[in-house]
Amino acid sequence: MGLYPRLEINLEVIQSNVITLLEQCKKWCIRPVFVTKGFLADFPLVKMLYEAEVRNFADSNLVNLLRIRTLFGQSARLTLIRLPMRGELETICEHNIIPFVSHWGALQDINAVAEEKKKKQKVVLAVESGDAREGFLPDELLRIGERVRELPWVAIEGVGSTLACLNGVLPNPVTMRWLIEFKEELGKKLGGQKIFLSVGGTTFIELWENEGNWNGVDEIRFGEAFLFGSDISRKRDINWLRQGAFTVWAEIVEVYSKRVAQDSVRGFDAFGGIASTSTWGQRKRALLALGKQDIDENQLYFPGEGVKIVGATSNYLVVDIEESEKDYRVGDVVGFRAGYGAVLRAFLSPYVEKVYVRKGEGVEDEEKFQGKTFSGSR
Ligand SMILES: *Cc1c(COP(=O)(O)O)cnc(C)c1O
Repeated sequence: MGLYPRLEINLEVIQSNVITLLEQCKKWCIRPVFVTKGFLADFPLVKMLYEAEVRNFADSNLVNLLRIRTLFGQSARLTLIRLPMRGELETICEHNIIPFVSHWGALQDINAVAEEKKKKQKVVLAVESGDAREGFLPDELLRIGERVRELPWVAIEGVGSTLACLNGVLPNPVTMRWLIEFKEELGKKLGGQKIFLSVGGTTFIELWENEGNWNGVDEIRFGEAFLFGSDISRKRDINWLRQGAFTVWAEIVEVYSKRVAQDSVRGFDAFGGIASTSTWGQRKRALLALGKQDIDENQLYFPGEGVKIVGATSNYLVVDIEESEKDYRVGDVVGFRAGYGAVLRAFLSPYVEKVYVRKGEGVEDEEKFQGKTFSGSR
């Protein structure tokens, strides 16, 4: 089998982010939870996290959490940050996984399953806080708060807020203060019980950067921060973390100067979209053996100059190289920096080889990224 496409993962960069974030969270008096959904809780990465003394993991897919449970046993605290499906409740209870919940009915179901297993089930109550994704409506949660005490097999661990996921609503100090008050109020409804407040993802980090400690916020969940060292919700790199841990390498399989036929009737592209006419002129184009099946082309970045990603189909990435000074040829292998969506897709694609490297090993090298040229010929 060929070596490409390949996703190269620099463990040293990620490890350094993990250590920095652990130290920072200690200073901020907050418990960090490492979100593993971006890499399917792949073994080399979770092992590195565990060796760095991370014990709090969260994922939106149950299979990933089960993998972590098998690896580290009960020493790991595991949160399912996607609302559970009914058919998952038994497994969740059996393996001591803490799900996010957003319906009274779900709490009742969980209570029933937990009673059957004679095993108290911990849950986090997700609360809607502005992004209009998952979560109880706050008023409803306060209303049912007292009734939750009627469910003897359900233990409320805390409340969880997630922002900037669907609609890009950013957290701000007002939201944070509201969440802290909300936690206190809900705790009272629950009979004076102490519950925690969990916020996520990476978008929340800026609030600690700006304000120092947040008394009353207990936990932060992040993935992007330690994997990419960035905060896409604000389109910024976090300057005290490292970037460039992920590189996608792909091979050029065609180079021609081509243009789109101007006089024929045009319909939609293979995915039902309408192509932008800005890329239709006579241009030198390279085709790479890498497609939507393997990556999200909107989250691939080519660090060199004069190269532009035109688009992708299922199995090709088309790159405009008209303005590049480098003479790209069939057989050349080029590297792209990959963002969250591209990395997730690469992990999900059986066609992409995953290769872990440390600095100095393999071809990936952070410094090379910061330079201008970034393409390796075989
Ligand atoms: C994905 C996710 C996170 C982590 O978000 P990042 O942007 O990767 O930091 C946190 N909480 C929930 C509920 C999520 O789905």
